Amino acid sequence: MKKLVAIIVAMGLLGAGAYAALMNSRSGQDFLLEQAIQTQVAAALKPYDFVGLEVMVCGSSSPLPDPTRAQACIMVRAGDQMFLIDSGSGSNTVLQANGAPYQLMRGLLLTHFHSDHISGIGDMNLASWVAGRPEPMLVMGPQGVEKVVAGYNMAFELDRGYRTLHHGENLMPAALGVIQARTIEPGVIHNAGGLKITAFEVDHSPIKPAFGYRFDYLGRSVVVSGDTVVSKGLERAATDADLLLTDALSHKLIHSLARAATLAGADKRAQVLRDVLDYHVDTRNLDGLAARSNIRQVALYHLVPPTRNAIMEKIFTRDIATNVVMTHDGMRFWLPANSDEIRVN
Ligand SMILES: [Zn+2]
Ligand SMILES: [Zn+2]
Repeated sequence: MKKLVAIIVAMGLLGAGAYAALMNSRSGQDFLLEQAIQTQVAAALKPYDFVGLEVMVCGSSSPLPDPTRAQACIMVRAGDQMFLIDSGSGSNTVLQANGAPYQLMRGLLLTHFHSDHISGIGDMNLASWVAGRPEPMLVMGPQGVEKVVAGYNMAFELDRGYRTLHHGENLMPAALGVIQARTIEPGVIHNAGGLKITAFEVDHSPIKPAFGYRFDYLGRSVVVSGDTVVSKGLERAATDADLLLTDALSHKLIHSLARAATLAGADKRAQVLRDVLDYHVDTRNLDGLAARSNIRQVALYHLVPPTRNAIMEKIFTRDIATNVVMTHDGMRFWLPANSDEIRVN
């Protein structure tokens, strides 16, 4: 990257004429292309020397559309184990654009089966298959996960055949393209290599069951709420957590959107908006959660609605007195082992 910046700075010094010469000649274009690609690939293949929990927001939005955000998705990496929580539309693009280590993927954990949590499963399966994950993609979730996975396997059966036919069994082994499902119950669902994952029930009524997940690794902990209201179950599961990623809803913003829809005569849209008010974490109820559960840092994702400018963001967070992080796609949290530190970038 430094090399590329130096070239651009040098071009700036040389002036517009030299810049135009590079941009408009085949050899100049090829030179810039090679530099950019080599820099990116080298960065992606750099040895991983971080010890601790790494979290990436691979989807910060909800069903309400936002062209700059994918739907629900969180990546958690602990050493050579990578897990994904939910797979909303567009999340695979965020993962690939931000260099997610798909080859290390150990499982996809579904919180529940609303479309904004499952619609990217086909893309994730293909991307991790191409990246060389050594086992079939394992999708875990509450009762119902087998049905979702069976549907995806059926829908992508022809596509799987094309991939193996085109690239060969060696490169795209047919058996690794078929998704595996595992129904889980609340409790510890994974305990290996120092990483413990615990599933817990949340309150997304009338959607049942709905889970959240807690990750504990080398003295650090991350909790992903899934879709829920603030509940005793969430508070218990998040006790002493370093980082809680929680879904979040702004009552004021949704109410204003619903009223605007009513005034414009879009009654169905207005009713759908009012219906979502009672099954997400209302930001007015967030205050005190961090203190009650002794959570070091709360971060908001699955934004309902996704904030698209500074004024929306101000309104979204104005009822929360404690410090919270509003996430965006590609945002990473780094929790070094056995420390109190949380780095965000
Ligand atoms: Zn939901
Ligand atoms: Zn959702």
